[in-house]
Amino acid sequence: MAIDCLVLGAGQEVGKSCVVVNMNGKKIMFDCGMHMGHHDHQRYPDFSRISRTGDFDSSLTCIIITHFHLDHIGALPYFTEVCGYKGPIYMTYPTKALAPLMLEDYRKVMVDRRGEEEQFTSENIEECMKKVTAVDLKQTVQVDKDLQIRAYYAGHVLGAAMFYAKVGDSAIVYTGDYNMTPDRHLGAAQIDRLHLDLLISESTYGTTIRDSKYAREREFLDAVHKCVTNGGKVLIPTFALGRAQELCILLDDYWERMSLKVPIYFSAGLTLQANLYYKVLINWTSQKVKDAYTTRNAFDFKHVCSFDRSLINAPGPCVLFATPGMISGGFSLEVFKHWAPYEKNLITLPGYCVAGTVGHKLMSGKPTKVNVDRDTQVDVRCKIHQLSFSPHTDAKGIMDLVNFLSPKHVILVHGEKPRMIALQGRIQSELGIQSFCPANNETVSIPSTHYVKADISDTLRRHSKCPNFKFSKTDSGENSDTGFMPTPLNPLQVFDDRVTEGILCLDRSKKAKVVHQDEFLGMLGAEKHELQFAYCCQVPIGNLGNAIETEVANVLPVIDNGSWLHLLTGKLAIELNDVNIQECGEHIQVESISISVCLNDDCPHRISETNLNKSEAVYFCCTWLAADEPLARNVISTLRKLELSTNLTTAG
Ligand SMILES: [Zn+2]
Ligand SMILES: [Zn+2]
Ligand SMILES: [Zn+2]
Repeated sequence: MAIDCLVLGAGQEVGKSCVVVNMNGKKIMFDCGMHMGHHDHQRYPDFSRISRTGDFDSSLTCIIITHFHLDHIGALPYFTEVCGYKGPIYMTYPTKALAPLMLEDYRKVMVDRRGEEEQFTSENIEECMKKVTAVDLKQTVQVDKDLQIRAYYAGHVLGAAMFYAKVGDSAIVYTGDYNMTPDRHLGAAQIDRLHLDLLISESTYGTTIRDSKYAREREFLDAVHKCVTNGGKVLIPTFALGRAQELCILLDDYWERMSLKVPIYFSAGLTLQANLYYKVLINWTSQKVKDAYTTRNAFDFKHVCSFDRSLINAPGPCVLFATPGMISGGFSLEVFKHWAPYEKNLITLPGYCVAGTVGHKLMSGKPTKVNVDRDTQVDVRCKIHQLSFSPHTDAKGIMDLVNFLSPKHVILVHGEKPRMIALQGRIQSELGIQSFCPANNETVSIPSTHYVKADISDTLRRHSKCPNFKFSKTDSGENSDTGFMPTPLNPLQVFDDRVTEGILCLDRSKKAKVVHQDEFLGMLGAEKHELQFAYCCQVPIGNLGNAIETEVANVLPVIDNGSWLHLLTGKLAIELNDVNIQECGEHIQVESISISVCLNDDCPHRISETNLNKSEAVYFCCTWLAADEPLARNVISTLRKLELSTNLTTAG
């Protein structure tokens, strides 16, 4: 079985996000966006790749929309009302509330102001939104008996969510746009540690690592303040929702602190209406905004008022928020034409502008003239400031999320090709996770997970029943979690650590079964062999041996094999905690490890080491079974560190 991902948009680009995932027979469309940089058929995803006949209801199980940005939802009314999709659509409550405002604003810009052919009407938007099922964060929704989905907080914009989807044993997460650090009005993305076959992540800033947020905000405020002090006008092209509110909180706060009187305007009633929604949906905002809510709603802006068209050429400084962002048309473009030719003025652009927009042209170098449409050219003499803070995660955030979730595969979307390829390389080399960055209309197939249920045999079950008690004395309890409760000194603790080891048998004709090793031998009709390891370890004894030879042994205890073993037992008891060491006359037994003094000069288990004189070293022959390999390594490394002479009196 495989998970097939058809990337219909945002493949090696930003715009018209749309990924159709076919997982164990369920087909989910994640996002249904439009591209702001195109004005022809390329503005929408190529839906004909989902169904040649246009029967979308039987080719899709559901649509999931991550947030209200047009590059994620802009094609939805077209797909439902014009293409005729009637199946289920899911998004969060705030997205459902705010999306119609975004869609209506976009429709007006395109049709009423730019005179373009109408793609969908106001009625279409209304009808489309009626088909939407709103979901809450972390609410598990059963789309049908096999498909489960769940939303997680993504930061980015109000209501933005990452979506988890699970069919059978296969599970994926589609992030949409997200932010791993909180900003002024939203918190950081939050998700559970999930077992995933696939993570589909945005990668807008795939190679950027950002410095302190404070410094970047400071830079923006300084640029704005300097401009208005010199009598200039500041144009902030922005979408009605999202960055507008973030920058408004920032400016309103600054105006208050600096006692500035210069007016701050909003271009349309739309944003004022949007601010109302933000006030209502306060639960989805940052902890800081929520905490301050009882005394003041952060979206009650003191210094912001609405703008009238007649003010465009009014004298004096001002700050204006105008839609749409990236100066892709509409009112922000109209104001741009009037203000750009004057040196005093300032235009602030977001960190990212889609190719094909005026914003994108302004960002590439510093052009002196910009063609805004077929027959209009604008002289650009004003200052241009590019915001370096953004509601998207940076490269570190993406790596952190991928590392945290540790999915089996990663697909990168929503980014520019060179950055994506660099990030893809990092994910593979640093995290060892296979990753892809497909182009539009490409399909990536990854294997899906399928668990096999196996019975456990009666014999193995019986063997697992025997308790395996372990006793240990704890410390005085200083570090325990009992708080101020008094704990008795050295209480005896009893553990029952049972580990069952069996052998999985997959027989073509029967059900999978886990059996005991002896049972397995019976099934194979084979004899039992046990592998034993051996090592003859040299331990230096300093001048102790000489002392015996020069017959001053009368001042020391008589050193025979038993004494060496006794000394060794003492040393091992100090080095190895919680291990049962038994002295059995001629040898010491530690689990399956047997240690005895070796008198055979040609012992085959001896590896010649330092050329010590026969009287300067004693050899210990050790044998053990494979199961005790780790413990044996421990014992041998203890042996090798031993200098038996130095501690004779205390060990004896
Ligand atoms: Zn977005
Ligand atoms: Zn986006
Ligand atoms: Zn030996």
